[in-house]
Amino acid sequence: MCSTSAAPQVTTSASIVRVVLDVPLDREFDYLNPGLVIKVGNRVVVPFAGRQLVGIVMALVNETDIPLHKLKAVLQVFDDVPLDTASFKLLRFCADYYHYPFGQTVLSSLPLRLRQIKPAVSRKMWLYHLAQAVPDALIGKRQQVLARLLALLQQHAECSEAMLAAVSATWRKALQPLLDGGYVNRREVIATRPSMPASAQIPELNDEQAAAVEAILGRLHGFQPWLLFGITGSGKTEVYIRLLEKVLADPQSQVLIMVPEINLTPQLESRFRSRLSEYALVTLHSHLSESERLQNWQAAQSGAARIVIGTRLSVFTPMPHLKLMILDEEHDSSYKQQDGMRYHARDVALVRAKQHGVPVVLGSATPSLESWYNATGDQEHAGGRKPIYRLLTLNKRAVSQATLPRIFCIDTAHPPPEAGLTPLLKQAIEQRLQRGEQSLLFINRRGYAPVLHCSACQWLADCRRCSAKAVLHLRQRVLRCHHCGDEQPIPLQCPSCGNPDLRPVGQATQRIEETLQQVFPQARVARVDRDTIQAKDALTTLLSEVHAGEIDILVGTQMLAKGHDFANLTLVGVLDTDSALYSPDYRASERLFAQLMQVAGRAGRGEKPGEVLIQTAFPQHPLFAALREQNYAEFAQALLQERMAMQFPPATYIAVMKAEATEYALVNQFLTEFSLAARAYVDQHAATLPDQPLIYDPVRPGLARLNRMERGYVMMQSAHRNALQQLLQVAVAWVRAHPLQAKIRWVLDVDALEY
Ligand code: ADP
Ligand code: ZN
Ligand code: ZN
Repeated sequence: MCSTSAAPQVTTSASIVRVVLDVPLDREFDYLNPGLVIKVGNRVVVPFAGRQLVGIVMALVNETDIPLHKLKAVLQVFDDVPLDTASFKLLRFCADYYHYPFGQTVLSSLPLRLRQIKPAVSRKMWLYHLAQAVPDALIGKRQQVLARLLALLQQHAECSEAMLAAVSATWRKALQPLLDGGYVNRREVIATRPSMPASAQIPELNDEQAAAVEAILGRLHGFQPWLLFGITGSGKTEVYIRLLEKVLADPQSQVLIMVPEINLTPQLESRFRSRLSEYALVTLHSHLSESERLQNWQAAQSGAARIVIGTRLSVFTPMPHLKLMILDEEHDSSYKQQDGMRYHARDVALVRAKQHGVPVVLGSATPSLESWYNATGDQEHAGGRKPIYRLLTLNKRAVSQATLPRIFCIDTAHPPPEAGLTPLLKQAIEQRLQRGEQSLLFINRRGYAPVLHCSACQWLADCRRCSAKAVLHLRQRVLRCHHCGDEQPIPLQCPSCGNPDLRPVGQATQRIEETLQQVFPQARVARVDRDTIQAKDALTTLLSEVHAGEIDILVGTQMLAKGHDFANLTLVGVLDTDSALYSPDYRASERLFAQLMQVAGRAGRGEKPGEVLIQTAFPQHPLFAALREQNYAEFAQALLQERMAMQFPPATYIAVMKAEATEYALVNQFLTEFSLAARAYVDQHAATLPDQPLIYDPVRPGLARLNRMERGYVMMQSAHRNALQQLLQVAVAWVRAHPLQAKIRWVLDVDALEY
């Protein structure tokens, strides 16, 4: 373990072991030590409510409030110490801030294998390094293998067995005398998959990139948040690579890079691997097998992995030599966990960087309004908030010939689209086909059609379990709910009036794909959505087909919007986003703008200029005006003013108490009592709270019924984080003691993004 780990406190006497468990009770549990060697931080197996559970030892104590004869004994101890002091500090912060039981916070941060009753085995490997200069006399003239091994060891700080074996099959025999003589040493580390250097050409940084790299490298020591605001294709990734090269030159360093969904951007991992092949790199995401995940996690936790690339959960990975954190696409909502502890990985990353005293770089072409506010402050109000992040801007596309695409709206009022496509968009696709260029059509709805409709009685197919429409999936011949996954057969006639003529209404990916195949029979069309790329490597395969020019038209959802770099793609068509323009959700326009900027960013990344055509019934909408100018800064500033005026985040902080039950009456009763109790607390403590949080009446969310559960929520809001936190602490204790809490399901969502 590293120097920051908990001081091992060994006990062999029958003292008391205090552990945390993965149970929804916000407390620690005491057990007797039957004479095992147990350290703080160890994993132990203990009996709990008739089961055996894995717990983490928090403390070894001599006293407990529980009568000794009632204490049960620890059953088993594993010798690994998965979490260090720094990890506990971060997890403690999260448990407090998100008001989630500490034991569950701790255990859920670990790979599944460490939560199972099994020793944590891992594959190891040896690394060799030169310990002292080797006198020439030791190397005979004929010992060419040894000379080459030595050259390799001189070039690299450490060499793996694979690197040495590449020199000669007899490397072991040749090297043995140097090991025996103490000239070469080796150490055993957790094994990682080696990266292969690739002959990637290393571009010369442009002025903006160079300035960004220099600024960040100038403040490597100590906590410093940066917002790297760079348009799509401006070379943010290149900036990250340069930072890593410098930071990793120190052998006692590790870097954590976070990405929204790694399996959507396989290019990113290979770019880091080929440019930084010297350094052990591991990934952490949900597409790994449990044993790979454990192996990679241990490589990070032991310090063997120097680069960790992971999704939101990786923010908790212990890294003893963490020196820098990077969060790419920081605006992406997949950083917010939507079940269990509802943490936001960006916010946790900020806390972690502060606790470790390291810089954190947030990168985006369309920063979240939260980060934008933190980086620009309140520019409108005198004496308003000062910026707390440093802002770095990349305004130009990095490839010198590449320019930002031109963006146009196509008015769908006249002439109206046929089967979802306007004549202008069809012409544009036709042109691309003739020129041998690629097109991408973006529609954020998968399936065949969003509704199945009876024109005789206006019946619409609903999900049987949710207050939502069932989406028609023609290929699988089912109606499927995208909220709960329920599937039902497609009715042969209207269940309400018997009319056999049921029609699909509206467009979704499958239907557009079908239309494109009819309109352009010679074109090679591919569809990308959750339904087509469920298999692990399906997306990678498809992306390489796109790069190889084997596909002419791509149809897909937002999965296609992120990070991909297709040099020959010159047209992006946006099919139907109008519903988001007038959504009641105040975040809808921020999200839509980000999404459209991202998807537009896929066009014209190579040397050919790109064009983006947006089909809309509202071409005059101000969002499109801002989009056409591709001026995110101005748009964000306007949105921010709106949020300030309306007192929505980030001008204020919110938390949402969500509840659900089979009957809404129960939910309503619970939430009504909750809001009254919360208001009573605020009224009573008006004098001492830094601000009086607002507590709204219970309301039902847009999706009022989900999976047969009736839902409701109470929103709490305050301009002061601390005032809200004080209220939440009392409110959660109130809920835990409330008799109704056994009959309903509840969850507190701090900084909620969705209701
Ligand atoms: P972003 O992460 O901002 O979308 P990338 O780092 O992926 O941008 O860069 C976009 C493209 O430009 C990549 O193909 C990359 O190799 C290239 N690139 C980046 N920086 C430079 C540079 N300074 N000169 C030339 N090409 C560059
Ligand atoms: Zn009908
Ligand atoms: Zn459903």
